[in-house]
Amino acid sequence: MTALTDILLRRIAHDGPISIADYMAECLMHPQHGYYQSATVFGADGDFITAPEVSQMFGEMLGLWCADRWVTMGEPESFYLIELGPGRGTLMADMLRATSSVPGFHDAAAVVFIEASAQLKSLQAEKVPTARWYGRLTDVPEGPTILVANEFFDALPIHQFEKRDDKWAERAVTASGKKLMPSLVPASAKLSLVPDHVRASKNGSVAEVCPAGLSIAGDIAMRFSLHPGAALIIDYGYAHSAPGDSFQALRAHEYVDPFAEPGLADLTAHVAFDQLAQAASEKGATASTITEQGAFLMAIGLGVRAQALAAREDDAGQARILSELKRLTAPDEMGSLFKALAIQPPGLSSPPGF
Ligand code: SAH
Repeated sequence: MTALTDILLRRIAHDGPISIADYMAECLMHPQHGYYQSATVFGADGDFITAPEVSQMFGEMLGLWCADRWVTMGEPESFYLIELGPGRGTLMADMLRATSSVPGFHDAAAVVFIEASAQLKSLQAEKVPTARWYGRLTDVPEGPTILVANEFFDALPIHQFEKRDDKWAERAVTASGKKLMPSLVPASAKLSLVPDHVRASKNGSVAEVCPAGLSIAGDIAMRFSLHPGAALIIDYGYAHSAPGDSFQALRAHEYVDPFAEPGLADLTAHVAFDQLAQAASEKGATASTITEQGAFLMAIGLGVRAQALAAREDDAGQARILSELKRLTAPDEMGSLFKALAIQPPGLSSPPGF
């Protein structure tokens, strides 16, 4: 039993079963016992490895993507370079290094991090001393914006529904003695956010929706209604929403029971990219096609970058770069499951890579 199990058992005893979304939010973001309060979560020694932690090339390519958008926007003399959920700060550090030779880009950029974890903020401050933090995207002052988010949306709380006897019920977490376990309760109003084609699925199906993700996609689009901008979202998930249970817990690179050790395992769900794109379009922005990470990275020049880096290395260094390239792009690694989506104001030329 973890410290958080006790807290959740008391909450459930008082309020009744809690939604999967509330459970995820507590497990990940509880101010003392939340998963992201532990700084050891990323990397080979942690629970999972993200693309920027796999290879410096990932952040370098994203940095160049941002520089391209800045030039296309007409090189605004100041803009917010925003990252949602920067983790250890590696992505932004690599982006800034790769863009240091783009004239004017660094002088114009005000680096902003949106981060909920106090622990991770201190790591981010070490890696990117020029960064400023805001609690939410909507707190950042208006202005031209270039935004990136890698493996941020998969950490946002989802609601899950299960179809039984032609009716949707909501999955919730309840107590059985000293244990937490899944249960079903009447569906909340969030069911209305599930797309029609998923709602039409057969008995036994599971549907998921991420209201926090949809509202942030809408907030990104709203920023572009007054000022130019571009956003790049990369994560693992669906290009086309489908029924299915993608809620998962990862600890030390192994899948574990999401209800067994709250606060100690990473909880995530697949991102429904078509729903993010639609939420952004509804607020007036233009969404790109949804492209697999491997194809996106190769289209913006990752192969060429890898060759250039490898040319300076010995055999061992070349093998390492090749294996990083494969990890990021191969269909059986991160290349296909991960997707990229760009959101822009209408009228800005199409972003590279799509
Ligand atoms: N982008 C990083 C880290 C991904 S992990 C990488 O690719 O390595 C998810 C990140 O999002 C963590 O930094 C976590 O603390 C942050 N996060 C998750 N939910 C959040 C929320 N609701 N608000 C702000 N930050 C959040």
